[in-house]
Amino acid sequence: MTNLETSDSELRIQGVPIGAIADRYGTPFYVYDADILRETYRDLRDRLHPAVDIFLSLKANPNISVCGYLGVLGAGAEVSSLVELMTALQAGIAPRDIIFLGPGKSRAELAACVEAGIHAVVCESLEEVTLLDEVAAERKVGQVPALLRINPDFHTKGSGLAMGGKPRQFGIDQSLLLAAGATLAAAPRVAVKGLHAYMGTRFLGHDDIVHNTRQILATAAELARRLGIPLDTVDFGGGFGVAYFDNEKDLDLAALTTGINGVVEPFVAAHPEVRLINELGRYLTARAGTYVTRALYVKRSAGEEFVVADGGTNHHMAAVGIGSFVKRNFPIRSLTRYRDDAVRAYTVTGPLCTPNDVIGKRVPLPVVEPGDLLGVERSGAYGPSASPGLFLSHGYPAELLVHDGVAHLVRERDRPQDLLAKQRLADFISTPSHSADGRGSAMDRSDTVAAIGTALGEVLDHEVGPVAEDLRLFEDLHLDSTSVLELLMALEDALGVSVDPENLDMDDFRSVGTLADYVDSLRPTVAPSDAG
Ligand SMILES: *Cc1c(COP(=O)(O)O)cnc(C)c1O
Repeated sequence: MTNLETSDSELRIQGVPIGAIADRYGTPFYVYDADILRETYRDLRDRLHPAVDIFLSLKANPNISVCGYLGVLGAGAEVSSLVELMTALQAGIAPRDIIFLGPGKSRAELAACVEAGIHAVVCESLEEVTLLDEVAAERKVGQVPALLRINPDFHTKGSGLAMGGKPRQFGIDQSLLLAAGATLAAAPRVAVKGLHAYMGTRFLGHDDIVHNTRQILATAAELARRLGIPLDTVDFGGGFGVAYFDNEKDLDLAALTTGINGVVEPFVAAHPEVRLINELGRYLTARAGTYVTRALYVKRSAGEEFVVADGGTNHHMAAVGIGSFVKRNFPIRSLTRYRDDAVRAYTVTGPLCTPNDVIGKRVPLPVVEPGDLLGVERSGAYGPSASPGLFLSHGYPAELLVHDGVAHLVRERDRPQDLLAKQRLADFISTPSHSADGRGSAMDRSDTVAAIGTALGEVLDHEVGPVAEDLRLFEDLHLDSTSVLELLMALEDALGVSVDPENLDMDDFRSVGTLADYVDSLRPTVAPSDAG
């Protein structure tokens, strides 16, 4: 806790000192600034043609509060999995402002779309259209609104990751679509309302985006005419970039929106009822987020200065700069000495046991001391959700959203017990009791609870999953005295304890928690000098 006293040079977000957030919630964490989310959304909203609706791509940032806040401001949601759909709904986004896309939707996901009554399912293959029709029939739903995603024939310009004009698993090739009349006719419950195309991500040239938008709208109009489908909705993708590296510049928003509006205006005049959708992930969220880690060690190796921090590429894979020959750094700052000048170049790494865990190579920084906070800026998009958070079992970090000068916890960090709860020690592996071999540790409690969960599964003859301590054995699980004895025998085996059947107190069996207390009391206690 080195940062309880705030220095003058420390970063504040809406007046909240970053060290105070770190001391309260621990590190590492992501922090989002609601002011920046709002300004970014409003600036774009104010400039963009009113016929264009702005949707958040949850892929870029699936945090429920980030989604909910953008929703309050007016954004819809583009989701690509069952949990993203549930997130958007729980965040308060109206079903009419949700679309679901992705090349591999399961039957269950399609059913959830039908059930929720979202604006449209974006079908990415003709096979999916047929399946959606079946799902609608099963659910006795008259018609399900859908868009068809085109894999366009034309080449795109300017993307870091271009989509059009190539073999792709996404969308339906234009040529296949033109021959799809029979498939569409055989799926009467799928009401095709329009078309979708997405040209790629990280566009930083406004001319390229305008060019692509013009192409998409023209292609959509042409295909709709030839296939006889209405143009109630056209989604022209997203992919607006933000500058990360020294050689990059942010989009010129004025030029971009003037260009898009110039293309949209005549399209809307020709199709007055059309709803246009622009789905954006990175642009809406990246600049609002900072990944905050704490320096653990500062060391030298072969003339290079290293900062080893408590979080790295396990939470921020994008910062590793995969795909470029020369590693280009995200903007990284000392948050503890935010206003001090850079005096030295440090290579900033995380705690993983791999040389690739480098979030910044030779980053110019003020002097860094152990305990200092470092921030990777512009990190609100493709952060935790696009990172290998389980690598080395560190788990995912906390997330905070600062609004009106208050930091709100919007995702708890993974705790050791959360990470262990899903692991199952197969019952053919016999384990000596941890305590018996003198290795008692803070993990024992969650081990015990997990073992109770497994034993309950055996006794009840079905998987019970992770159990909560307040789960009641008699009331909730309807165990009787025989099954309690079976449970104890299973626990004796699993935990290497022995129960005295003459001395049982029924009170110990009220809940998982009381049982854990009882079982733990049977374990040999470990004197501190024996431990470790
Ligand atoms: C990833 C994705 C987006 C969001 O891309 P950004 O570059 O973050 O705006 C939008 N639409 C589709 C189809 C995507 O796959």
